[in-house]
Amino acid sequence: MTFQSIHTVILDSIDDHIAVIDYLGIIVYVNNAWKNFNVGIGFPLDYDWIGTDYFEYCDSSTVGSDKLTARGEFEIREVLAGRCDSFACEYKIKRNDGSYTWFLGRGMVIERSADGAPHRIIGTHTDISERKQTEDLLRRSEEKHRMLFMDSPDAYLILIDGIFVDCNKAAAVMLHGERSMIIGYPPEILSPDFQPDGKKSAESAEKRITEALQTGKNTFEWLHRRLDGENFYVEVSLAAIELDGKQALFVAWREITGRKKIEAELEATHSKLETLSMTDGLTCIANRRQFDHVLTQEYARHIRSGKELSLILLDIDYFKRFNDHYGHVSGDKCLQQIAGVIGKSVARSGDLAARYGGEEFACILPDTDQQGALFIAEKIRQGIINLAIPHEWSDIAGCVTASLGVVTLTCHKEESASEIVVRADELLYKAKDLGRNRIEYNDVYAEQLDVNFVQLVWQESFTLGNTLIDDQHKALFLNSNQLLHAIINSSTKDEISKIISHLLDTITKHFIDEESILESVGYPLLMEHSIEHEKLKNRALELAVAFNSQELHVGDIFEFLAYNVIKKHMLEYDREYSAYTSD
Ligand code: GH3
Ligand code: MG
Ligand code: MG
Repeated sequence: MTFQSIHTVILDSIDDHIAVIDYLGIIVYVNNAWKNFNVGIGFPLDYDWIGTDYFEYCDSSTVGSDKLTARGEFEIREVLAGRCDSFACEYKIKRNDGSYTWFLGRGMVIERSADGAPHRIIGTHTDISERKQTEDLLRRSEEKHRMLFMDSPDAYLILIDGIFVDCNKAAAVMLHGERSMIIGYPPEILSPDFQPDGKKSAESAEKRITEALQTGKNTFEWLHRRLDGENFYVEVSLAAIELDGKQALFVAWREITGRKKIEAELEATHSKLETLSMTDGLTCIANRRQFDHVLTQEYARHIRSGKELSLILLDIDYFKRFNDHYGHVSGDKCLQQIAGVIGKSVARSGDLAARYGGEEFACILPDTDQQGALFIAEKIRQGIINLAIPHEWSDIAGCVTASLGVVTLTCHKEESASEIVVRADELLYKAKDLGRNRIEYNDVYAEQLDVNFVQLVWQESFTLGNTLIDDQHKALFLNSNQLLHAIINSSTKDEISKIISHLLDTITKHFIDEESILESVGYPLLMEHSIEHEKLKNRALELAVAFNSQELHVGDIFEFLAYNVIKKHMLEYDREYSAYTSD
């Protein structure tokens, strides 16, 4: 194979189309690729290209009608004319089937005449259709994205270095302005000075942007200001992106003013419902639910403070008969009036008046001692009587009355809030048992004694020197301790009754014996002493009566025994006669 034919083989193996033309534009060489391509645009396979006028070929072929192909022709003329040595340009050629082939056309002088003018030019076409297609796809996809960005109903913006560099139409519409009023500005000028949480918009925005750049995204609610001054809520989504080699944020705004409005309305409705569900519909005071809630809270608070908590439970007397006789409408009105009295009677800020259920009411009185609670209970009882609501069918009065149970206690963590209600209920039913229209309360003194009680202890110094008198005094101590013990330990009525009558017998017998001893020794102050005995006996009898009418309080018993009988009488008064009676 000659050197020439080696070149031919190489050139024929190249995909690019290669042709050599002389200074007149006559084709002097084409490679196989050139021949094959031209088949596609109307030339026969055996067409002999050698000798063809290149410019005529361009003009006559369909190829020449294309503007870009004409550019290649023009460039070759320029090279042939010596105005440039080479060229490269892109153009497309229409094929028989209507499709286009894109080429990168290049030409350069490969031989010059003696005077330096171009003599032969090599021209090549490299098929760049694939690249062009990809570029076209890319361009079209960019156009599509741009269109999506610009025409989306959601507001989109691009933020770089804290400045909006682009935004779509929806963003401008949302702000009631033009795109030019957004692009080039920082976010804070589109917001009020402060956000609803009280933070400065500028600082808040900076923080959000930093977070988004660090974590890649950030979604939050934001208060914006329209360009005409109106504020509105948006949900902002920030997404970190790279744009032209720069770190940027893709910003999406979704207006949530409507949602915010609904949320605010829901919240208002919710708190209204909350109030409604805490209030009794008929009487407009707190209902059972609120009562339970407040009592639990107050009980826990009183465990911590150690202060006294009082509770009043009230039940209208013979209310069934009232309803039966006067009708439910009157019954309801009566409940409303009584609720009014109760509501007005509890004046302190922490107090709570509630409808406990049916015709029962309750008052929670925080930090209130028994005296205070009884004062309020009496105010309520009297206030109900003062309403003077006629009740012909009541067994106890001509008007509506109520019975009340009052409990005052210090709260302990071993017990629960419900126990205080149970105790108030017991006292309320005691008030019903004892005749209604009355107040029953717990014996605070006894309950304290239950914990702290100290027995009366006989001491040798108490002896007066007379065996009988001293033995009887000792027996009085014993009986007194028995009684106190029985009361404190809530013994049965029968047991306590027995001890009381025994104590009365002991006292009576002792006084008789003591007086006869004093008489026998001629004690000059016998008369005064007997009067003193009489007083003590009367007081003892009073206590016995009080016990029978369920009004006996351990404080009264203790005061009588420890103070009146033992300290004042036995230890002070009796000592005056000891000089006459010693054995
Ligand atoms: P007592 O003196 O022993 O308390 O007798 P009472 O008749 O008041 O007690 P009882 O529990 O037998 O009856 C309570 C009545 O209260 C039954 C019902 O007619 C009436 N009542 C309860 N709730 C309402 C209410 O919301 N409206 C009206 N009008 N009456 C009610
Ligand atoms: Mg009842
Ligand atoms: Mg009742």
